[in-house]
Formats: sequence, structure tokens, C-alpha cells
Amino acid sequence: MKTAGSRNHLPKGLVPSALSKQEFQKVYSLLDVHPLKFDCGILCASLCCQEYEPGVGMYLLPGEEQMFTCEEPWLKWKFVRAQDHNFPPDWKGKVAFVTCNATCPRDKRPIQCRTFPLMPYLTPEGDLQVRLDVLSGVLICPMIKEPDKYPARPEFYTAALSAWKVLTKDPLIRSDVWHLSRQLDEDESSIWRSLLLR
Ligand code: SF4
Ligand code: SF4
Repeated sequence: MKTAGSRNHLPKGLVPSALSKQEFQKVYSLLDVHPLKFDCGILCASLCCQEYEPGVGMYLLPGEEQMFTCEEPWLKWKFVRAQDHNFPPDWKGKVAFVTCNATCPRDKRPIQCRTFPLMPYLTPEGDLQVRLDVLSGVLICPMIKEPDKYPARPEFYTAALSAWKVLTKDPLIRSDVWHLSRQLDEDESSIWRSLLLR
């Protein structure tokens, strides 16, 4: 019988992980906090939780596959080569990419869905923070488009930071966070961003 965590249902050659299933369970539990006092999905008809553009989905973090059987009917699975996508060069192997077939049970949501609309950010000095994910959410999420009107709760920032502290113990996840942080730096200083935020 296939069970989550047995790993015999997974393809060979995945990007390796330094984190245990228990660490992922801890992260899932830390991230079980709503960003707002109410269900933020009512602001946007849960836009981030549907295929708002054809093929849109999310990558799992290395090792996060341990939390799934790959037979969840609410997800469609693909495994893609990291080097063909926007990952740092030290990610060598395949990464799980899931798209939504239906709405996930709340306790089964992947990390990227739990942490959104925040993203982890490493300062140039290497300090870990969490920030609004303007890289992937500025066009869809009211909490990112209007942060003064819909500010994420401090508890949500605290939970996300605690979770990413655990996750970035894995050097490859830290490397990816560094890679995305430098993209965020570039994005924030770009001309189109200043035009968009006018
Ligand atoms: S995180 Fe943003 S896009 Fe997703 S449901 Fe909440 S308000 Fe909507
Ligand atoms: S994977 Fe699940 S939680 Fe994430 S966007 Fe899709 S349906 Fe929503």
C-alpha cells in the first residue's frame, strides 16, 4: 500500500532534501494561521486557489513530497527539471509541480499556499525576513495590492517567519530563498514597479 512518506511512489532524481517529515509537519502546523481575522478568500473569490491562468500552479519544496501520496484527487502532479525553471544552479534534479484539480482540504495545503501572500526574504547580510510576495501576487491578491486596507495580521508574519526559519535550515531551500530575494530586490527597483505603485 502506498502511504505518504514511504517515498516509493516518487520518481528518482528529485532535488535532495535535508528536512525530515516531522520538520515538514511542524512547518504545516506553524502555518495553520489565517492571514486576516476573516477568510481572505471573500475579497477575491479565492483567486489564488484556482487556475486563474492556464497551467498556473506551484512547486513543492524539496522533501515536501513526503507529505503526499501523489494520488490526491484535488491535485495534478508533474515532476520537472529544476534547471529548466527559475531555481538556483545548485538545485540539481526534479521538482514536484502541482496544479489544482479541486480545492485542497485545509490541512493538506502545500507550503507555498500556506505562506502566501508572504514570501521569505534574505537581506544582503543574510538575515531572514518575510515580506509581501509582490513577485507572484501583485496582480491577484488584494492584500498585496492594498496592504494598508488589508494588512496581514502580525501573528501571520510571526508564524511565516518561524516556518521559514525551519525550512531554511535546508541549504538548498536557503539558496532558493536567496535567489528569489535578489529577484525581489531587482523587481522593487525596476521602473515598471514604480509605475505600478503610483
Ligand atoms: S491570499 Fe490573497 S489572493 Fe489568496 S485568497 Fe487571500 S486575498 Fe485572495
Ligand atoms: S494547491 Fe490547494 S491550496 Fe494551493 S492553490 Fe491549489 S487548491 Fe488552493
